[in-house]
Amino acid sequence: MKAVIIGAGMGGLSAAIALKQIGHEVEVYEQVTENKPVGAAISVWSNGVKCLNHLGLEKQTAALGGIVDSMSYVDGFTGETMCRFSMQPLIDEVGQRPYPVARAELQMMLMTAYGMADINFGKKMVSVADGPTQATVEFADGTTATGDIVIGADGAKSLTREYVLGGPVERRYAGYVNFNGLVEVDEAIGPATEWTTYVGDGKRVSVMPIADNRFYFFFDVTMPEGEPYERGTAREVLADNFARWAPGVQRLIEKLDPATTNRVEILDLDPFHTWVKGRVAVLGDAAHNTTPDIGQGGCSAMEDAVALQFAFTEHRDDVHAALAAYESSRTERAGDLVLRARRRCDVTHAKDPAATAAWYDELRSEDGTRIIRGIVSNIVGGPLT
Ligand code: FAD
Repeated sequence: MKAVIIGAGMGGLSAAIALKQIGHEVEVYEQVTENKPVGAAISVWSNGVKCLNHLGLEKQTAALGGIVDSMSYVDGFTGETMCRFSMQPLIDEVGQRPYPVARAELQMMLMTAYGMADINFGKKMVSVADGPTQATVEFADGTTATGDIVIGADGAKSLTREYVLGGPVERRYAGYVNFNGLVEVDEAIGPATEWTTYVGDGKRVSVMPIADNRFYFFFDVTMPEGEPYERGTAREVLADNFARWAPGVQRLIEKLDPATTNRVEILDLDPFHTWVKGRVAVLGDAAHNTTPDIGQGGCSAMEDAVALQFAFTEHRDDVHAALAAYESSRTERAGDLVLRARRRCDVTHAKDPAATAAWYDELRSEDGTRIIRGIVSNIVGGPLT
């Protein structure tokens, strides 16, 4: 059994490791010529960590992860703590600590685990086609690759998805821009082992710890799509958007490095339930493109990889049965996470200002129970539960 995987992001690499683990021959093709992940860090929730553990990466993941012992919400204007609570009940309930990790480090861990030398860089797929005995992809350089299956882990703008669905789909702008980066831990912004989130006016500023005394930070700013932006001007833009915010936020704006601060317009895609056409399947953002509001896009890609492995373990000699099992085990769960993130996004970013004001009120009386219940319900339901 030979799998051709398009895309060496966290989805494609997790799938490559997962299929290799069960003895499949795997070839990975990636369009970029070097490892340059977009974005500073991600929060790998317990379900994602369980997938990485399953792929044999338990120690490595823990070494990269920040320790989040508590969570708090802070009034963005006054700096007053609205609620603060321990993460321990969540860890106890799901049986695994979550780990925020730097993207570049996560990517390097996965590449090393799969085998850096076995990734074919600089190979941009330009077409894919199913066939009676094999599926074939063609690259921009005119070469081709064939496999018993092709897994398109080619991200949010996936060409494989276009093939599987029979045409292009339109993604939806979620109404806000996310600025993100890394800074040294600074307790004037938030405690070193806490995920701290400042909220106000439908905007949000967050810091969470990753390994080596660093905070992953992000700012969400609601604005129309396509606003002009010059890279390197994040400090001015954020100072302007958060002018009257609390001292912790001002400190973060002073500390961030504008040259390495990323700016991402946030989009998502309505869930769809056809992930397979013949021997060709989509995985990761190609299959479910979500807003990051519940931090589940990458975790869901890792769940896909484990589900793919389980499907091929159960249907070892039947490609079509295996891909059908993969699809039916994943589309509902992944689509549900996309819609949960969209609902969270709307409340956080004041699509309906009254609902957002009600949420701020709720936060002031929160003891952690409701929030943890919500996060646990995102975490459970995947292939490793
Ligand atoms: P990608 O990471 O996009 O990888 C796709 C790869 O395919 C790329 O390397 C690309 O170069 C390659 N490729 C594309 N087209 C071709 C082609 N034609 N030929 C060859 N190669 C190709 N998720 C979480 O779990 N937790 C979080 O906290 C979190 N925070 C986020 C914050 C932000 C601001 C954003 C935008 C996303 C966040 N996510 C988070 C989501 C997460 O980043 C994605 O879900 C994840 O990166 C998807 O991985 P992937 O491998 O499917 O796609």
